[in-house]
Amino acid sequence: MKKSITPNQIKQNNRSLIYDYIYKNRKVSQQNIAYDLCLSRPTVTTNLTAMENDGLIQKNGLIDTEFVGRKAAAYSIVPDYRISIGIEILKKEVQMVAVNLYGEKISRMTYEIAFEYADSYFKTVCDKILAFTKSLGTTDGQILGIGFAIQGLVTPDQQTIWYGKILSCTGLSITEFSQYLPYPCSFIHDADSAAIAELWASPELTDAFYLSLSRHLGAAIISKGSILTGKHGHNSTIEHIPMQSDGSKCYCGRNGCMETLLSLSSLLAESESLESFFAKVRRRELPALDRWDCFLTNLAKAVNMLHLVYDTDFILGGYLAQYLRKEDIASIHDKIQQMTPFIEAQDFLLISKMPRHNISIGAALPYIQAFLNRSNI
Ligand SMILES: [Zn+2]
Repeated sequence: MKKSITPNQIKQNNRSLIYDYIYKNRKVSQQNIAYDLCLSRPTVTTNLTAMENDGLIQKNGLIDTEFVGRKAAAYSIVPDYRISIGIEILKKEVQMVAVNLYGEKISRMTYEIAFEYADSYFKTVCDKILAFTKSLGTTDGQILGIGFAIQGLVTPDQQTIWYGKILSCTGLSITEFSQYLPYPCSFIHDADSAAIAELWASPELTDAFYLSLSRHLGAAIISKGSILTGKHGHNSTIEHIPMQSDGSKCYCGRNGCMETLLSLSSLLAESESLESFFAKVRRRELPALDRWDCFLTNLAKAVNMLHLVYDTDFILGGYLAQYLRKEDIASIHDKIQQMTPFIEAQDFLLISKMPRHNISIGAALPYIQAFLNRSNI
């Protein structure tokens, strides 16, 4: 059969091309667009007028042109033409963030609401989300969707928590949780959303092992720019790799899992904050310094083992990341060097570029990504 492209498809394609070009280059003139996309000026003008009328793009001051002394009108996308919401569900609180089409945070709220597998809890959280979206002054059609990051493993269709021992929420479905919301909603494993935020912050990143060093340990494998989900949905659940047969009890019911050595609860004393712990470490006070060295030794053991399986970059992320210093990375590297038969360069150990609010932002980003990847606009 003869393949053909209709004039309508060409028109739609030009519109998408122009929108993507403005998005990527942030602030451009008609001349830039016509030249770089090899389109006629009338085609560019018609599309710009139509997209401006539709609210997709806006005039944004003036920009230098190649003609000396002449400036041209600049165009940018409207960053909040569509927005997305990311929610992080924790044992004792709920964090919400709204991001625009550049993945930039527009607004953020935290509520102290203790998790409960009960309809009253879902209703309370949904009411807070509705109040949050109302405070942004958005219309329902503007919101692409809501991603719920959760400390649990999620089915590949992102509709159900199939393993949720931390929050005791195994079996929870997204329809049960979000029945009071008029937006598309989905669950996402919190370590995956942290890795998605990392990918967004580092577009050059294609392959890496991401470790989320937070209240609980988590991990995600980034391969060819995507998160590997695995055959059954429990890819990179390194937290349950057995490390010590006589170790402390993990929430999974077994003893000595990696979780029991590398979660923040294994590092911090009862009611101790990361700030106060690291203030002691940096003053080289004992016993905090010994606890930190022991944690780094366990981290080096874990990274070495995983690195022997997968020779790639390791990104140390999660709440701990913002406290990590170059000297800690050097210490982990020294420890790994003593454990491994190979001469290891230090360049595979990296500190996360996005340690703050990465989980909630990462939960929002897939909706933004899907919007940007659409075939027409
Ligand atoms: Zn375990």
